[in-house]
Amino acid sequence: ARKCGRDQVAISIGVIGLGKIAQDQHLPCIAKNSDFKLAAVVSSRPSDLGVPSFKTPAEMLASAKLDAVAICTPPSVRRNIALECLTKGAHLLLEKPPTPTISEFADLKAKASASGKVVFQTWHSRFNKAVAEAKRLLAGQKVTRLHVSWKESVWQWHPGQEWIWEPGGFGVFDPGINALSIVTEIMPEPVFVDSADIITPSNRFTPIAANIKFRAANGGDACLTAEFDWRQKGEQSWNIDIDTASHKLKLTHGGTRLLVDGFETVAAPSEEYEEIYTRFAELIKTGKSEMDGSPLELVADCMMLGRRSDTDPFVW
Ligand code: NAP
Repeated sequence: ARKCGRDQVAISIGVIGLGKIAQDQHLPCIAKNSDFKLAAVVSSRPSDLGVPSFKTPAEMLASAKLDAVAICTPPSVRRNIALECLTKGAHLLLEKPPTPTISEFADLKAKASASGKVVFQTWHSRFNKAVAEAKRLLAGQKVTRLHVSWKESVWQWHPGQEWIWEPGGFGVFDPGINALSIVTEIMPEPVFVDSADIITPSNRFTPIAANIKFRAANGGDACLTAEFDWRQKGEQSWNIDIDTASHKLKLTHGGTRLLVDGFETVAAPSEEYEEIYTRFAELIKTGKSEMDGSPLELVADCMMLGRRSDTDPFVW
């Protein structure tokens, strides 16, 4: 094992699923974090990463000596792979969304806790300074208005990914859950789903757009809404407006920038995955797990309460 910065042995990590996010973020962030050393991968594709590559998690877990595993597959297969890894004694980092159902999440949480291993179930959008600052400013405040506008091009961000259109693939809630992970982090009081309009292409199983109304758990008449749309052309928008009696906050660019009453107070580069791996190393050192199902619960509630309608067939 390689020695890391503070003369400790680096955490030997395997990565499962070398798709878009593994290549864009996980592999580069592991490479530049001296607390980790990439030791193996599981992939159906050829790779020249200089580490053994296996066809299945079972083969990797049987052959490679690993301290930790990052699971970067689509959510539908994540729980079974996670349990295989925990059984073999690996700490786990899970991509979002953690599981396709609430009951799988509850089961995984219980098994993670019983395993004695660290399970870090990530929500990458929470790892922004502007999000932390918004949370600080909203603590103890009464929110009068919340509006989420999360509109992006599925063609640009999920090219050719068919799993997003399959049951359990989340559709527009795959990006939308990132917004909900911020909402559940920063709101001073929880919100419930009041109603949802869910729009699905006539030739696909999962939604391409959703309009949601929330209500505050503590009552009141605050106007709390969200719009998710995957058909956005031109400028992409990942914005959250939050008004209180005294201030108007606006998180933009996916939570990397914060404006307060129109003035930019935080504008930090996006280093979500650098922060995630720093946090994972800390959690492993302290033996603590982190799992929070609240964004997943809101998505499930939208699906339970949603009024459904069809729209034009989807074409890549
Ligand atoms: P992706 O490009 O489709 O990659 C997923 C990879 O997982 C595939 O390339 C494949 O790896 C493996 N895989 C696919 N189906 C599998 C199955 N049935 N069993 C085992 N492995 C399977 O998807 P992605 O965009 O990277 O997204 C993966 C996860 O990361 C999703 O939960 C997504 O929400 C999250 N995420 C994505 C982004 C993004 O920008 N795309 C950003 C943040 C988080 P091999 O090709 O190596 O076999």
